[in-house]
Amino acid sequence: MNSKVAIRRCSEYNTAEMVELIADIYKSCDGPDPRNKKVLLKPNILTDTDPLKCVSTHPSVVEAMIIYLRSRGATVFVGDSPAIHLRGFRGNKSGIGPVSEKSGAKWVDFLLSPSSVTVGSSRVRIASVIKEVDLIISLPKFKNHELVFFTGAIKNQLGLIPGFSKARQHALYQDRDRFAEFLVDLNESVLPHFFLMDAVRGMEGPGPGQGVPVTIGALIGSTNPLALDITASSLADYDPLEIPTNKIALRRGKWLRDKSEIIYDGPELESLVKKDFKRITEPGAKNTIFKFIFKRFKRIRRFQRRPVFIHRNCTGCRECIRICPVNAIRMHTEKENHVILTDRQCIRCYCCSEVCQYNAVEIRRKFFGV
Ligand code: SF4
Ligand code: SF4
Repeated sequence: MNSKVAIRRCSEYNTAEMVELIADIYKSCDGPDPRNKKVLLKPNILTDTDPLKCVSTHPSVVEAMIIYLRSRGATVFVGDSPAIHLRGFRGNKSGIGPVSEKSGAKWVDFLLSPSSVTVGSSRVRIASVIKEVDLIISLPKFKNHELVFFTGAIKNQLGLIPGFSKARQHALYQDRDRFAEFLVDLNESVLPHFFLMDAVRGMEGPGPGQGVPVTIGALIGSTNPLALDITASSLADYDPLEIPTNKIALRRGKWLRDKSEIIYDGPELESLVKKDFKRITEPGAKNTIFKFIFKRFKRIRRFQRRPVFIHRNCTGCRECIRICPVNAIRMHTEKENHVILTDRQCIRCYCCSEVCQYNAVEIRRKFFGV
């Protein structure tokens, strides 16, 4: 598989400049010819919210990609399924729906007549548009992720699964490595033809929904999701092999057998690395003895990072309750805006923190109380 990765410095969301940069990246990575093709753009819209929060792919990146593809003769469709997906979702607050229509692309609601694909050994619901287009282009966002540490090109395809079926996968694959295996399986079933990551502004700290925006200053492209994720996660100062999706995909050897196979085109990588990036780490992640001890302690639930509900911030919107795949949370019957966790049921998927837009769910260790 093509293992080229191209990075271009990009310090602001200027659509006209990004069209030029995308053209350059696309050429450098041998992106597929879009002429006379139907192309689906799949941005990352975790929750439909203000682009300044860096929760989703910036609308200007989507707009620039649409302009570039249409200039090359493509018909462009745009769609995604956010964590909480209601029928009629159009990505209005994120700005992605409006820029898509303004730039001549057609918005697609993934909930309309979904189809299914085989992923690993099971059938999974999937947006039917993937069977109607010639090319899929994935537009991930440079962000941390509480469960799989870094959410990049491989993780972005989860949004092809419409509605609650996404959260259900967490109930089926209940730990970090099993969920990462599922994500790699999903990409092996539905592999986009090109990836362009919005790393102009990224998110550090408790991603993918509650972190802090941070400038990275780059657009990153590749036809190879693993090559892209290894490169991008190293810019966040991760050891790329600590990221479970990278580790698993590399072990399978379908996209790369070794990270040394990546053919890189761009500024010196070291000059782009954010040394002070606030990463997600497990305690003792780089220490073999600690790793062993915490593996043993896994069964002691109180030692695990878990959702902690900050009642004073809670608005009672119930989004966390809707998304929880195992019904581990509920509202207090007497106290207003007071969410209660049944800890023994919680599978630590962290979906509740992803959907809370009011900073009312923190992921941390708490030994006592709910
Ligand atoms: S914790 Fe957040 S998502 Fe859950 S009800 Fe409160 S505000 Fe809504
Ligand atoms: S409470 Fe939160 S972390 Fe626990 S299973 Fe439910 S959604 Fe996942």
